[in-house]
Amino acid sequence: MATGFSGAAGTVHVIGAGVAGLAAAVALAARGRRVAVYEGAGHAGGRCRSFYDDTLGCRIDNGNHLLLSGNLATQKYLRQIGAEASLTGPDQADFPFMDLRTGERWSVKPDKGLIPWSLLSSDGRVPGTSLWEYLRGIALAWAPPGKTVSQCLKGNGQLFERFWEPLAVSVLNTEADKASAKLLWPVLRETFGRGAAACRPLIARQGLSESFVEPALAYLHKTKNTVAFNHRLKQMEFANGRLKALNFTGARIELTVQDHVILAVPPAIAGSLVPDLDVPDQFRAIVNGHFRLPTSSPKVAFIGLVGGCSHWLFVRNDMASVTVSAATELATQPSPDIALRLWPEICRALELGDCPMGPHRIVKEKRATFAQTPGQVLKRPDPSTAYDNLVLAGDWTNNGLPATIEGAIRSGQRAAELVVC
Ligand SMILES: Cc1cc2nc3c(=O)[nH]c(=O)nc-3n(C[C@H](O)[C@H](O)[C@H](O)COP(=O)(O)OP(=O)(O)OC[C@H]3O[C@@H](n4cnc5c(N)ncnc54)[C@H](O)[C@@H]3O)c2cc1C
Repeated sequence: MATGFSGAAGTVHVIGAGVAGLAAAVALAARGRRVAVYEGAGHAGGRCRSFYDDTLGCRIDNGNHLLLSGNLATQKYLRQIGAEASLTGPDQADFPFMDLRTGERWSVKPDKGLIPWSLLSSDGRVPGTSLWEYLRGIALAWAPPGKTVSQCLKGNGQLFERFWEPLAVSVLNTEADKASAKLLWPVLRETFGRGAAACRPLIARQGLSESFVEPALAYLHKTKNTVAFNHRLKQMEFANGRLKALNFTGARIELTVQDHVILAVPPAIAGSLVPDLDVPDQFRAIVNGHFRLPTSSPKVAFIGLVGGCSHWLFVRNDMASVTVSAATELATQPSPDIALRLWPEICRALELGDCPMGPHRIVKEKRATFAQTPGQVLKRPDPSTAYDNLVLAGDWTNNGLPATIEGAIRSGQRAAELVVC
């Protein structure tokens, strides 16, 4: 088995090659540290990956992933692996929306500067909303840990239904009346709070693996670090306040005193490997429907949808992909029924008329993220552990952000810093 390298500073063993583990490995490799990554599956990327789908005859992502230009940890990671040009999006911060019930369309366009002057005019606001409803959003800045988004924003009214609720559900993957208000605030502060330049929506130009995974594996290979697939960690041995050895199926790695381990696996796995570790234990699903369109669209486009089942619609070439967040109930339904629910909404949003449904694929990620409720957020552990040479990473750890790519990458970079210090 590949055990990495043993230099004077020791090897950092990274368990799990999702974006958190990859970000940790890349940050360490960039500082000249020796890294050995072990991934339980036969491929990297975890919950953020692309794969070939036989029904559609092309590569698809496990789910649409939307990023914002204000995601600075992600930008740094992409620069390190040479993939900064692999994301695409509109030149301006512009979030088109449609109400599926009424057919009304509008756009959310954050102001260039820090003060949202455009909200003073009704043309600059979501249709049917008042300035007062926007001002209520400030309450999120002081949200106590126990409050939900609905409680904090007095969940009703047009702005709640047409902006706050879709925002909370897509960012926190949890129903607004259950989602932690306190966890929504850092996202607003780091994006909308910094003006339009930090709010440009971005998606992977080709696919998630082409942006976040393959360039990272190439970077680790180029820097002569190892990534071992099909290496599932089964057990950890501890002695005298330190992690002593890693047991994979059929192989044991004894750690030297200079070695460190970054555990970047999902919460349930980390909880089973590390004694007395409290972890989030409730989850929410995300359902994605990928549908082949009758004709190709020259532009990459996306649109937020309210008043139906679908939340976001993305169009790339001749593929329309719909995301439904906080979809735990929907994910229990048979895929053909889900497709029949989503397709008419796509037709309405893209003005396709009564178009017959073509080849499609429904992807259900039952544990897409942990449930970001006030109670579950309190269960997020800090990256440092009771063991000197063991650090945690992952979107579920206490990284100050919701369970997103930015949160996962930031946690990986922070874990790398803790090892280097
Ligand atoms: C459908 C979907 C849509 C999403 N949409 C967005 C979005 O629009 N924007 C956004 O920012 N985020 C989005 N997310 C969230 C984002 O994908 C995750 O936050 C991020 O990918 C989590 O990365 P991670 O490295 O923390 O965890 P994971 O991706 O879960 O990585 C953990 C890795 O550890 C491996 N592993 C598990 N057990 C072991 C073991 N015993 N030994 C070795 N390896 C092991 C796993 O195989 C996996 O590769 C979405 C997620 C999903 C599922």
